[in-house]
Amino acid sequence: MNDAVNLTMGDDGIVVATMDLPGRTMNVVGDVLMAGIAAAAERLAEADAKGLILTSAKSDFCAGGDLDRMWAWTKPEQAFEASMAMKQVLRRLETLGKPVVAAINGHALGGGLEIALACHARFALDDARLKIGQPEVKLGLLPGGGGTVRLSRLLGIQQALQICGEGAELSPQKALGLGLLQALAKDREELMAQCRTWIAANPKAQQPWDAPKFRFPGGDSRAPAVVQMWSIAPSIASAKSHGNYPAVQHIMSAIFEGGLLGFDAASEVESRYFAACAMSPVSKNMIGTLWFQLNALKKGASRPKLGASGPAASKVQKLGILGAGMMGAGIAYVSAKAGIEVVLLDTTQAAADKGKAYSQSLLDQAVKRGRSTAEKRDALLARITPTTAYADLAGCDLVIEAVFEDRDVKAGVTRQAEAVLGAGAVFASNTSTLPITGLAQASVRPAHFIGLHFFSPVDKMPLVEIIVGAETSDATLAKGFDYVLQIGKTPIVVNDSRGFYTSRVFGTYVMEGIAMLKEGVHPRSIEVAGLKAGMPMPPLALQDEVSLSLSLHVAEQTKKDLAAEGKVYEEHPGMAVVRQLCEIGRFGKKVGQGFYDYADDDKQLWPELARLYPVAAQQPEQRELIDRLMFAQANEAARCFEEGVLRSVADANIGSIFGWGFAPFHGGALQFINAMGAPAFVARSRELVTRFGPRFESAAVVARQAWEGGCFSDA
Ligand code: NAD
Repeated sequence: MNDAVNLTMGDDGIVVATMDLPGRTMNVVGDVLMAGIAAAAERLAEADAKGLILTSAKSDFCAGGDLDRMWAWTKPEQAFEASMAMKQVLRRLETLGKPVVAAINGHALGGGLEIALACHARFALDDARLKIGQPEVKLGLLPGGGGTVRLSRLLGIQQALQICGEGAELSPQKALGLGLLQALAKDREELMAQCRTWIAANPKAQQPWDAPKFRFPGGDSRAPAVVQMWSIAPSIASAKSHGNYPAVQHIMSAIFEGGLLGFDAASEVESRYFAACAMSPVSKNMIGTLWFQLNALKKGASRPKLGASGPAASKVQKLGILGAGMMGAGIAYVSAKAGIEVVLLDTTQAAADKGKAYSQSLLDQAVKRGRSTAEKRDALLARITPTTAYADLAGCDLVIEAVFEDRDVKAGVTRQAEAVLGAGAVFASNTSTLPITGLAQASVRPAHFIGLHFFSPVDKMPLVEIIVGAETSDATLAKGFDYVLQIGKTPIVVNDSRGFYTSRVFGTYVMEGIAMLKEGVHPRSIEVAGLKAGMPMPPLALQDEVSLSLSLHVAEQTKKDLAAEGKVYEEHPGMAVVRQLCEIGRFGKKVGQGFYDYADDDKQLWPELARLYPVAAQQPEQRELIDRLMFAQANEAARCFEEGVLRSVADANIGSIFGWGFAPFHGGALQFINAMGAPAFVARSRELVTRFGPRFESAAVVARQAWEGGCFSDA
């Protein structure tokens, strides 16, 4: 008896195999679960068993591979053997000559879907939150449990490529439409009944690929239509991935080669590519950061500890938002969506109403697309109260100000709000540039003052950067942290400093690209280098989005502040270009002209850039441009770590990927240095210093690692 899969058999001879991995909240594929499924197959092989329903006792069906186990693999043989062992069990299950049906009661992802694919039929609960798919590619992996092999034989090669290559997570409705499921059920009872009916109707079920006359739907890899698809698929994929994600290529290879081979040979080929992915530095980077570090943050690694002496878990019931502009309106939406009562305040009722209307427009769209209902929309909207009256803030647990980026305006609203707030309430600023400690001077209780830095657009961006001012208390930090989790975002916690963490490091990327322009690098080469480096947007286009005037304003403000502190402001060489373009009114996208000219939905690099910044006859190699863009960011992140702006490596890595899109395959700005190794980072930085100046001087913490050994670690 295996306690990971409980087996029961009714009078009808149907074995119900219920996955329930002990000690875990979810079912994950590893030796224990697979041993349970193997035992289920053996039970089915016995004479009295007529069929088998595979389901789960947990809220998910099966969430995927056990990443703890994969993380421990050091040799490709381990990955290959584990993958082949899983396949052996699934192959036995589907070739017993008796019907096996998956009753999908929750997420069936990765290995979970692969188990379901080894069943002869699949039924799922009709619940839009339930996800079905092969998301392995998002962690640099490929489905290693037969996913590429069975999907291409069930749905056709093109569909398999799309599902595995994009890592999409499908709703049951979508999966049904694709033919991945037989039918949907309204509840568990109906789900089990559908499975039983199917078994009764298909006593000798066989997989399509085991039928003697099996043909791939749409043809195998040699079929003319498929050949045509293969002639363009690699270039489409590399236009998106720029060759930075080996898993994308390996998925294509596994499906292409599998499309020329028999089932067993295709399975073995898939396992070899799986092993290559599992051992790749990219998957190590991505699993380390986007799985382990992300989970640690979500579990509260950066929150002051709960417990006898630490702050208790909190929930915001009523939230005040000051300023119903772009950010305030977005914060209102995500908070009301999480069930929080929101008071949205602005200087005029019209402005406050406009802020609420933003939620209305998002929700109307969601209803139109079938992603929400009119009732849900109305209930959410009813939670947002637009107002101009500060008295309405009474009873708020948290107030977030998102008024103009102006110290005096912010000080004014802080005082007015605090006058009506209770003693325990927290006041947060969504400032993007003004140090929190300074803003807290307007507060009569600076221990309750904190920075909650959202990113635009708020409903899409997953990160909130929490900024701890000099006087912010642990209890305030804990409340801010709990609120960020309450609205379903990922919190990182940083100490107060100019530009905090994300804006400060992000700025080095953009400025480095702009500096290249001044040196005579062709603008298009700069942009291509940004994309090849794996950044979501190239530097010049990004500066246009942010607006040149905003960057100039921040630079001027910084210069003034530093002068007041008796410090010298060292201007980045890129800033001269920003100033020059601002002087001629090229402020960026918002005015239709910056580094690019904007017309309708189209944009073109401004041709006159070449006259202002003549293109040098000798152009640098792309590798050098990429290194400059990435080293500038990684090194600035290391400086933030050294200065104590960053409090953990996880905050640094997750903040960089979720905050400004730092190339995810590197696993974050500090993991970039870890993966390269400090000695190599320092050596390359030295070369960049001689060519481009002292801004590439390695942060002392990295130089020390290079001498003494060690790397960035939270352990
Ligand atoms: P916005 O101009 O769109 O909105 C500001 C709103 O504040 C306006 O509706 C204005 O009427 C209101 N307001 C001004 N003075 C007020 C007062 N005294 N009382 C009440 N309401 C008042 O600006 P935004 O882009 O939403 O930015 C707001 C804040 O968020 C700024 O501090 C900004 O730096 C920060 N921020 C912006 C972004 C971004 O991408 N736009 C990102 C992160 C943080």
